Amino acid sequence: MKESPEEKRLEETLRSSQMVAGGFMGTDPRRPLEVIEDDEDLLDKLKLSIHTLGRRMHELTDLAIPQMGNWIDDPRQSRLRVKADDYNGSLVCPWPHPGSYQKRITTVKDKNTGRIVSWTDLNIHMIEAHGFFEGKGAFFRIEPAQIAAILFPDLT
Ligand SMILES: [Zn+2]
Repeated sequence: MKESPEEKRLEETLRSSQMVAGGFMGTDPRRPLEVIEDDEDLLDKLKLSIHTLGRRMHELTDLAIPQMGNWIDDPRQSRLRVKADDYNGSLVCPWPHPGSYQKRITTVKDKNTGRIVSWTDLNIHMIEAHGFFEGKGAFFRIEPAQIAAILFPDLT
């Protein structure tokens, strides 16, 4: 199927490095909508909804915010530790959406396996609102299977 003008414009924005270094697509040759569909399939296989994933990401970020820069034990899953770090500046949704997201990075570590996953507040928004985990090779690409293995190990 041919790319619509809207999709073309979105792809240009996502591939541009003006908003974030390297852009949101990394080295991924797929079209943004293909990336979104492929990741949706992966989540379906895990029986994990974007809603459930997004809610858990928010929960962990909110847990870490009051103690910025320090590791906090997650009271819900004792094997998880979470930390949030603030950086100068803000990010805007490339779709585009009004509003901006503080440059804050949440890192979650599984103490048992040593696995780590990181996200920005914009990642949470793009996952929840657009089902977009970013292209392969993008700095903040989140692999659905990897984040699920850390936050929802019962599903993987
Ligand atoms: Zn958006």
